[in-house]
Amino acid sequence: MSSLSAPRVPVPKNEPILGFAPGSAERKMLEAALAKMAGEQADIPLYIEPDGRPTRTGTLIDVRAPHDHAQLLGRAHRGGEAEIARAIETAVAAQRAWALVPFEERAAIFLRAADLIAGRDRGRILAATMHGQSKTAHQAEIDAACELADFLRFNVHFAERILAEQPISDPGVWNRVEARPLEGFVYAVSPFNFTAIAGNLPTAPALFGNTVVWKPADNAMLSAHHVMEILREAGLPPGVITFVSGDPVIVSRLALAHRMLAGIHFTGSTAVFQQLWKQVADNLPNYKTYPRLVGETGGKDFVLAHASADPAALVTAIVRGGYEFQGQKCSAASRVYVPRSMWARVRDELVAEIAKIKVGPVTDFANFMGAVIDKKAFDRISGYQRHAKEGHGHTILAGGGGSAERGWFIEPTLVESTDPKSRLMSEEIFGPVVTAFVYEDARWDEVLRLVDETSPYALTGAVFCRDVAALVGAKAELLHAAGNFYVNDKPTGAVVGQQPFGGGRASGTNDKAGSLWNLSRWTSPRTIKETFVPPRDWRYPFLG
Ligand code: NAD
Repeated sequence: MSSLSAPRVPVPKNEPILGFAPGSAERKMLEAALAKMAGEQADIPLYIEPDGRPTRTGTLIDVRAPHDHAQLLGRAHRGGEAEIARAIETAVAAQRAWALVPFEERAAIFLRAADLIAGRDRGRILAATMHGQSKTAHQAEIDAACELADFLRFNVHFAERILAEQPISDPGVWNRVEARPLEGFVYAVSPFNFTAIAGNLPTAPALFGNTVVWKPADNAMLSAHHVMEILREAGLPPGVITFVSGDPVIVSRLALAHRMLAGIHFTGSTAVFQQLWKQVADNLPNYKTYPRLVGETGGKDFVLAHASADPAALVTAIVRGGYEFQGQKCSAASRVYVPRSMWARVRDELVAEIAKIKVGPVTDFANFMGAVIDKKAFDRISGYQRHAKEGHGHTILAGGGGSAERGWFIEPTLVESTDPKSRLMSEEIFGPVVTAFVYEDARWDEVLRLVDETSPYALTGAVFCRDVAALVGAKAELLHAAGNFYVNDKPTGAVVGQQPFGGGRASGTNDKAGSLWNLSRWTSPRTIKETFVPPRDWRYPFLG
C-alpha cells in the first residue's frame, strides 16, 4: 500500500465507437477475427491455482452460437465442489500480497487490459461476443470493446478520486483515510448479456486490493474466457481473480458459506439475487465481517409519451430501445404508453419500421437482430407471445413468431394491451417483445401513477414530452420509478462516466456500475489520526 509518489492517473475518455462500414479497416479486422474464431474450438479451463496454472476437469459443457446451434465454438470445463473450494482458498490466500501492491501498479494492470481490448485484442473480444452471445457488430462494439475499456479506465479514475477524499486536520494533528480492501474475498457473479459487465464485476473490487472469485454465466463462457485471458496477459497476478464454472447453486452455496465472504458483486435476475441475499442472511453469524451486497437486477422499462411528444423520435426510440440485442438488455424498452391522439400514427409507423428489421446470424452484417441466447430464453419469450395470441386483452400488431430450426430466433414483436396491468405490461420478458397501452390524452396524471405502480422494477424509463409543465410533473411523480431516467431519448445505451447506471426497488441496490458510488463499496476505509506532540497531562484546564 505504500507508495513513493502520489501519481495522477491518465484522464479517461470514452472509447470511440467504430462504424464497421463495408470496406473500412475495422470491418476487415473484424471479419478476419470472426472467421478465425469460427474455425477454432476454444478449450476453456478454470483458473483456481495459486500459480496461475489452468485447471481442466474433463467435465465439459458445450459453447454454441445462439444463431446457429450446430456451431460448436468450444467447450468449458466445469468445476465440482473440490475445484470451487480450491478457488475460494486461492483467492483468500492471495489477498495479503495483492493488497500490498501499490495502487498505481494495480491500476496499471487494468489500464493495460483496457488498451489491449481497445487495440490489439479488439477483434478477438468482439468476435467472441458476436459468436457466443449473438450480438451484431455494433452491439458487440458498444459492449465488449467500448464499455469494457471504459469501465477499466474510468474505474481507475474514480478510485483515484476516492483515495484523494481526505478529512480535515486540526493544528497538531494529521488525519488520513486509507482505502483498505474488504477483509475477505468478493464473489462476482455475472450475467450473459454484457461482456462489459462480466469484466467489470470482478475487476472493480480487484482494483481496491480485493481478491475475487468470479463465476461467469454458462451461456457467455466464450467472451468471459477471452476477458480472463486478456487480464492475465495484462499482468494480473494468479489468484487475484479466480475463474470458476460449475453448477451455480453449488458454487454459490460454497462461496456464501465461507467465513471470509466479504462481498457479492452480482448482475442478473431479481430472483437469483434475492436467493443469494437470503443465503447471506442465514450465514450472517458465521462471517468475519458484514458482506457488502451489490446487485443490479431485472427491469420492466417504460417509454411514456406525452401528447406533446415528437412521434418520429418516439418510434425510433421504441425500435432501438426495444429490439436491439433482441431486447435482452436490462434497460430494454418493454412497456410503452401512448396517448390516443398519437396512437394511429405511432402504431402504423412502428409496424412499418419493424417490417424492415432483418433477423438472422450476426455474421451477416445486414441483420439488425440476432438470436436470443438459448432454448430456455426462446421458450420463455415464445410463451409470452403465445399468451398474447390467446388474447387476455392483447392484440399482436407485428411479429409474434420465431424459429428454432437453425438458431433461437424470435421476431420483433409489437403487442397492444387494453389492460395496463396485463402480464405483458408488467413482467420482465427479456426478449424482443414491446407492449403498448393507449391512454386517453386527458388522463395524463392517471397514466403517471400507472407507470409508477405497474411493475416491481425501477431500472430505466423514458419520457417523450415537449411540454415543460408535464415534464416537471412526470419527473416528480416518477421519482422512484427509474434509476436511469431519459428525457426524449431511448431508455438503453448508458455510457460509463456519462450516465451512471442502476435502479432501485426490485431492480437492484442502485450502486451505479462504473461510478464512484460503486467503487466506494469495495473499500473499507481505515481512519488514522496522528498527533504530532501528544499531551502529557491528563487534567483539563477546567479542573483547576
Ligand atoms: P440469471 O439470473 O439467470 O444469471 C445471472 C448469473 O447468476 C449467472 O452467472 C448464473 O449462472 C447465476 N445463477 C443462476 N441461477 C443461480 C442460482 N440459483 N444461484 C446462484 N447463481 C445463479 O440472469 P441472466 O439470464 O444471465 O441475465 C438476465 C437478467 O439480468 C435479467 O433479469 C436482466 O434484467 C438482468 N440484468 C440486469 C442488469 C442491471 O444492470 N440491472 C444488467 C444486465 C442484466
